[in-house]
Amino acid sequence: MHKIEQPPSKQTEQLFLAEAKEQGFVQFIKTISKTFFAIPIAWIVLFALVYKHIPLADFVIWVFIFFIYWLYTVYAFNKFHKEGASRSRHLKPVIIILILEGVLWGAIFYVFMGYHPKTDAWVAIFFAGIMSAILPTYITYPKGFYFVIVGAIVSSVISFLLIRDRLENVHEVIFTVTLYLSALSFLIKPISIRVIEGIRLELENQALTKQLKESLANMSHQANTDALTGQLNRHALNKALGELVVKGERRKTTFSLLMMDIDFFKPINDNHGHDVGDKALQHVATCISNQLREWDLCARFGGEEFIVLLPSTNTDEAMAVAERIRKAVESTPLDKPQLSMTISIGVTAYAPGMNAEMILKAADNGVYEAKENGRNQIRLFPPALQ
Ligand code: GH3
Ligand code: MG
Ligand code: MG
Repeated sequence: MHKIEQPPSKQTEQLFLAEAKEQGFVQFIKTISKTFFAIPIAWIVLFALVYKHIPLADFVIWVFIFFIYWLYTVYAFNKFHKEGASRSRHLKPVIIILILEGVLWGAIFYVFMGYHPKTDAWVAIFFAGIMSAILPTYITYPKGFYFVIVGAIVSSVISFLLIRDRLENVHEVIFTVTLYLSALSFLIKPISIRVIEGIRLELENQALTKQLKESLANMSHQANTDALTGQLNRHALNKALGELVVKGERRKTTFSLLMMDIDFFKPINDNHGHDVGDKALQHVATCISNQLREWDLCARFGGEEFIVLLPSTNTDEAMAVAERIRKAVESTPLDKPQLSMTISIGVTAYAPGMNAEMILKAADNGVYEAKENGRNQIRLFPPALQ
């Protein structure tokens, strides 16, 4: 039964969405650890706007508390960012930090309002500006913005109640500020959904690309590999041999080729069955490939015939490799059932003007001579190559 690739199901979509939200959180930590540095600038701006009309001691206390909070937060966000931010580990401290941020900004009404109509207007404008300026930071993590807003609403409402003696229309002000903050928190949702969806799609694309690459690599491996022995198949051999011939022609380099045929293989099948025959083939393939260097190639050429390609190798070296292989096969019997095998090897080398067919024919002649001479031996063909 073939398993047919399904389009991503609802379940995997949910998984990617969860991952996208996680990445959104990580992105948020990264952004806020950079933008938080700008907060002291806001204090200076606020001070410049209101210092003439407010009690300076209150301002100093407020900035001092905010400064301690700010120092800790810069340190914490950098720490989270460095150790790899994650919702599961950092959610709690982040929630506390964000609520406190809202509380500290909301407290400016207590510290600065109700002293002078002009400063009141500036403080209101400043507060609205700060709240909308920080909104983009929370686009990838809108929940974080809600925590800030909750902190800000609670703290501003308390502030207004505390200063109701020095401020007119307290109820209208509370209503306006709460309405403004609620409107902001509704604003972030639709934008954020699109951003998170973008991250989700990107993650899904990455996963699909990876899957596609893996199956392509798999398919290409299967297309070039002999299923029984795991060596290259004939198709891959033809390709590699063709490339070596072209390289030989162009760069005047040589290479050698060994053709091997197992001696008396048919009786193994006849006496022990086809399964043992298959096992014997795998065993011989392993014996051969164990003797090769990394850049040599071993292919199954036919039933119980193998071919080894030795790039940049002359006949002397090729004969030595062939002898190593012959000895290895002869001296390593198959286990269960105990079966000793031998192989006959034809060796040849590329010479200018030869094509793939001619090279294979020469090696085949070598095998034929080795068989004729009693098997379990190596023959160079044509002998003049020596
Ligand atoms: P020789 O020494 O002359 O080579 O004798 P031989 O018995 O090995 O003769 P030959 O090379 O003609 O035998 C090939 C045999 O290999 C015939 C076939 O049954 C067997 N064979 C080919 N492919 C497979 C395979 O995939 N599995 C098994 N078990 N046997 C195979
Ligand atoms: Mg054969
Ligand atoms: Mg044979």
